[in-house]
Amino acid sequence: MKLHGRTFVITFLVIHCVTILSVAKEFDFFYFVQQWPASYCDSRRGCCYPKTGKPEEDFSIHGLWPNYIDGTYPSNCDSSNPFDDSKVSNLESVLQKHWPTLACPSGDGLKFWRHEWEKHGTCAESVFDESGYFEAALSLQKKSNLLNSLKNAGIKPADGKFHTMEQIKDAITKGVGYAPFIECNVDSSGNHQIYQVYQCVDASASKFIECPVFPHGRPCGNKVELPSFSSASTRDEL
Ligand code: 5GP
Ligand code: 5GP
Repeated sequence: MKLHGRTFVITFLVIHCVTILSVAKEFDFFYFVQQWPASYCDSRRGCCYPKTGKPEEDFSIHGLWPNYIDGTYPSNCDSSNPFDDSKVSNLESVLQKHWPTLACPSGDGLKFWRHEWEKHGTCAESVFDESGYFEAALSLQKKSNLLNSLKNAGIKPADGKFHTMEQIKDAITKGVGYAPFIECNVDSSGNHQIYQVYQCVDASASKFIECPVFPHGRPCGNKVELPSFSSASTRDEL
């Protein structure tokens, strides 16, 4: 009788735990984050061009980040699945072009990609494996085509002109159908610059969605620029 009671309690607890684990969501949606490389250089960090050379004056990928709708996010979810260079070897040249690293000292990108996969990618293992993570981000970048959205609104980056935040946000919203979150930085002369664009993506990483919640980023002034690379902010470590 006693044994039966204990068996019942253990069975109940096991079923209960399995139920909780199966309903606990891995995450709710993704932030797809792109950076304006020259702004990264003008931020306090300074920058170094990648070993492969000066990046194009275009938005580049920072990361694809799983998030919860309450604004919190999981990170570094699976240390048993570390970044493996060989799994992205066929993507390397595309990643160097679209996901370059600007941190110093100059790198080939592997360190940056490792960081993004291990911190963020491993928290969405039900959606993709390592190469799938990078492929998903590259495909989202093509779909978002930020430069084209800006061009269609008559905004030409790196021309030394300033734009209102409303102009920039409207241009991007027209492009993908949903409003982005924009994070800015301030250069050494006090100019406000667009630093990163966050767009929200559904939990299968296939389509853009309305953002369930916006992140807390550095605020933007009303007049912002998309600067060109200036020699003052880069360190020659090619
Ligand atoms: P920062 O403090 O520079 O805004 O963010 C540092 C890092 O924390 C980001 O590069 C990213 O890895 C992570 N992070 C910051 N905010 C968010 C967020 O709202 N969602 C997710 N998923 N990661 C974030
Ligand atoms: P997160 O902010 O995503 O957690 O971390 C970004 C990490 O990647 C930092 O350690 C940063 O130094 C490194 N990193 C390397 N290259 C880049 C780059 O081009 N942009 C950004 N934002 N971080 C980079």
